[in-house]
Amino acid sequence: MTDRYAVIGNPVAHSKSPWIHAEFARACGEDIEYRRIEAPLESFTAAVDLFRAAGGKGLNVTLPFKQQAFRYCATVSERARSAQAANTLVLQKEPYGDNTDGVGLVRDLTANLEIALENGSVLLMGAGGAAQGVVGALLGAGVARLVIANRTLAKAQALAARFPGASASGYDALAGEGFDLVINATSAGLSGYGPSLPSGILRRRMLAYDLVYGHDTQFLAAARAAGARACDGLGMLVEQAAESFFVWRGVRPDARPVLAKLRAT
Ligand code: NAP
Repeated sequence: MTDRYAVIGNPVAHSKSPWIHAEFARACGEDIEYRRIEAPLESFTAAVDLFRAAGGKGLNVTLPFKQQAFRYCATVSERARSAQAANTLVLQKEPYGDNTDGVGLVRDLTANLEIALENGSVLLMGAGGAAQGVVGALLGAGVARLVIANRTLAKAQALAARFPGASASGYDALAGEGFDLVINATSAGLSGYGPSLPSGILRRRMLAYDLVYGHDTQFLAAARAAGARACDGLGMLVEQAAESFFVWRGVRPDARPVLAKLRAT
């Protein structure tokens, strides 16, 4: 019987994951089925139980269920524990949770965008679920300085306190600072109004990376206007999916041709 996988979220109709995993399966010669599950906001556990009882082998988890997915699992990987969230579930007898967002971001930055993170100086904007998922991977990649800035400073402080090597800041206090890489992990891009950075933070010879994809955000437009290199989060999406595929199937698909195809559509 074909092994069954799905992405679970709410909303999930927009998800590109079924298309991405179908491309991976074709390229790797793996026989899988992958669909979308829109779980009611209050029924994540019941929806996962149902999929599991029907023979489902694994799930990708997206907004707003990553923290609930973490709590659902009997065992978790170190990267899920560090993020306190899971985006990949293996539905074996004892459900196992992993988090591939951080490694997906780092792989997009280093392999696709060819950025050297080692000894780099990074500003991470936001302290929500997405930011929590990537701090450990950025530090693990050898970033020398990681500043987490957030509108609600207490949340940035709480997140930084969990990771030796990270520090917290409000946006205004960043005046005069310089970074090699600025990552927007806020959800502000979707509304069009985001945190405003002190002038001089976005500048030439730096990379501005927005986790949001499919929209030209105010952040990326400001970065381009300042002469910075600007990139959206589509590569992270494909790379985190490739890592999930590897967790499930033990085969690592090449994300690059799939990313190129997705960008061309
Ligand atoms: P979240 O948990 O709701 O956190 C939202 C964050 O954005 C918080 O830090 C919040 O600050 C900040 N924020 C929201 N509106 C703001 C505004 N107007 N000004 C300043 N800060 C604002 O959301 P999330 O799960 O972290 O997701 C963030 C984004 O990442 C989403 O758009 C998601 O689609 C994207 N994402 C992309 C990928 C990928 O593969 N490319 C993976 C994961 C997530 P406060 O704490 O002050 O409220």
